[in-house]
Amino acid sequence: MAKINRRDSVAVNVGGVRVGGCQAVVVQSMTNTDTADALSTAEQIVQLARAGSEMVRITVNNKEAAAAVPEIVARVRDAGYNTPIIGDFHYNGHILLTEFKECARALAKYRINPGNVGAGKRHDENFKQMIEVALENDKPVRIGVNWGSLDQALLARLMDENARLSEPLDAQEVMKEAIVRSAIESAQLAESYGMARDRIILSAKVSLVQDLVDVYRELARRGDYALHLGLTEAGMGAKGIVASAAALSILLQEGIGDTIRVSLTPQPNGDRSEEVFVAQQILQSLGIRSFTPQVTACPGCGRTTSTLFQEMADDISKYLRAQMPIWREQFHGVEEMKVAVMGCVVNGPGESKHANIGISLPGTGEEPRAPVYIDGKLRTTLKGAQIVPEFIELLNQYVAGKYASAAAAQTAD
Ligand code: SF4
Repeated sequence: MAKINRRDSVAVNVGGVRVGGCQAVVVQSMTNTDTADALSTAEQIVQLARAGSEMVRITVNNKEAAAAVPEIVARVRDAGYNTPIIGDFHYNGHILLTEFKECARALAKYRINPGNVGAGKRHDENFKQMIEVALENDKPVRIGVNWGSLDQALLARLMDENARLSEPLDAQEVMKEAIVRSAIESAQLAESYGMARDRIILSAKVSLVQDLVDVYRELARRGDYALHLGLTEAGMGAKGIVASAAALSILLQEGIGDTIRVSLTPQPNGDRSEEVFVAQQILQSLGIRSFTPQVTACPGCGRTTSTLFQEMADDISKYLRAQMPIWREQFHGVEEMKVAVMGCVVNGPGESKHANIGISLPGTGEEPRAPVYIDGKLRTTLKGAQIVPEFIELLNQYVAGKYASAAAAQTAD
């Protein structure tokens, strides 16, 4: 793993998962089902947990949703998952958490958006009411600021103060300051009501990469609250993935961030778990945590003879991901395995030798043979129509041999 000096933050226990302090960076996700539909929501939570989400957030937006929360949590537990389930509240959280006591008890954490808890005097009263429910139920909170729903009274106050300066800042800088202040002042308010610092996580999400970096550097500089990172409204496909990776990587590399979420817009009927896989891949690419064996594949070029190479790289990646829920229980360290799938002899054997197990497919004009390397040594050469299943069989044998013995050694320790 990479040597990254993590910022010191106060550790928070969220339903048994430790966030902050010296703990590993935690991956979380959010459902997009109607929370009032307990069955669909529980199924999606299980799907996200199976993908590796260590905490899952659900919106609790109305009375029907609040009423469904205990059943959702029970269904997830019955399915064998202890994943903490977090409630996301906006506008009416103080009412729902007060009226639906079982909902308040069942959730592992409450996300409070200080930008929409009410205006004027109601702001502090409603906020206090939510904190009091959290205290009664011994639950942590995330104070989650979002620039799309920033506290307008605070922004107006800072704009006025700025206008009186001899050298006023530009409006974007004032906006960022308002985001940071909203998070920190809300946390201080929660502490004044009796909430301990080790029960508070902060987030301050914006949708532009450079702004996110600026805001989180300031949050990290001004306090030791545990921080939840995420680029809000990251978008779809490559844009959402790249923008999230760019923003989160800069901050994680600086040791900032205790839990992350990648806010991807899924394709219609797309797999919600993609946001979990992307979050894991960001952490694994940075060498911060390992989740799944990594496939090194060349991009292919005019030397690749057919689509077999791309199909094989894709099949093996999917196979590895599908195996991980089983393998992670049986084979300690398998998530650090490296597999190479290469398109020709130019870089194929070299890259294969650097992997735990690698295959080099024949390029244009090469003999129709695919040498397989295991732990740097040529093991065999595959040919014919069964190359993919034969390689997967070798892969399974390698995992069973290498990582089962590691698991046994760990048990003996
Ligand atoms: S390894 Fe071979 S097929 Fe792959 S990109 Fe390099 S030259 Fe092309």
